[in-house]
Amino acid sequence: MTREELTRRHADYGRWRWIAGAVGAMPLLSVYFLVHTPYLKGFLPGAKFLAVLILFFVPLGWLLAVTRLYERWGATRYGLRCPHCGEALLGQALRRAINRGSCLRCGGEVIADPAFPDAGRPGT
Ligand SMILES: [Zn+2]
Repeated sequence: MTREELTRRHADYGRWRWIAGAVGAMPLLSVYFLVHTPYLKGFLPGAKFLAVLILFFVPLGWLLAVTRLYERWGATRYGLRCPHCGEALLGQALRRAINRGSCLRCGGEVIADPAFPDAGRPGT
């Protein structure tokens, strides 16, 4: 894979990331609007800690779960994985791959580019 190919794949991955964010944020936004109406009171338990759990932590957990799932699925779907160890090439691992041509976890060569003659060697 070349640096340009990796950059293009990451752009494809990022192009649809907003959908995962929107689907993940939907329950939080729904709660935000519903909490100001009387419709929600009939569905909430009497205990305040349970209400907080349902109104805040469950939608927040949903948001985190959806975004994590998109990271895992998107890295595979768009070919953003290290060919040696399968590490997702996102965030710091992506920067490492673009700048040095090697995997952050295993150090294997990710980018076959003459600009990175040391990629894949231990300690790189
Ligand atoms: Zn690797």
